[in-house]
Amino acid sequence: MPAGRSTRRILLGGTLTALAAPASAQPALLPRLTQAEAQYEPRPRGIAMCAACTLFVRPNLCKQVEGTVSPEGWCRLFDMVD
Ligand code: SF4
Repeated sequence: MPAGRSTRRILLGGTLTALAAPASAQPALLPRLTQAEAQYEPRPRGIAMCAACTLFVRPNLCKQVEGTVSPEGWCRLFDMVD
């Protein structure tokens, strides 16, 4: 097998493995932000709130934003759970 094809297969395999891993098993890819940097607010924006975000850690923490957050809070990193 040509070396280029082998390298592509290794890279593609690694990418697919990373995409298939559950979010909780992946290392943090972004540095944690302060609440000000994330534009955190203690109130929801419609249905968008920490309790409905993939980054929320019950009862009041966030994987990407420093400090405690309210389940009814919101920030610009909001990522709706499926
Ligand atoms: S909305 Fe922002 S602060 Fe709240 S859990 Fe999601 S990322 Fe963290």
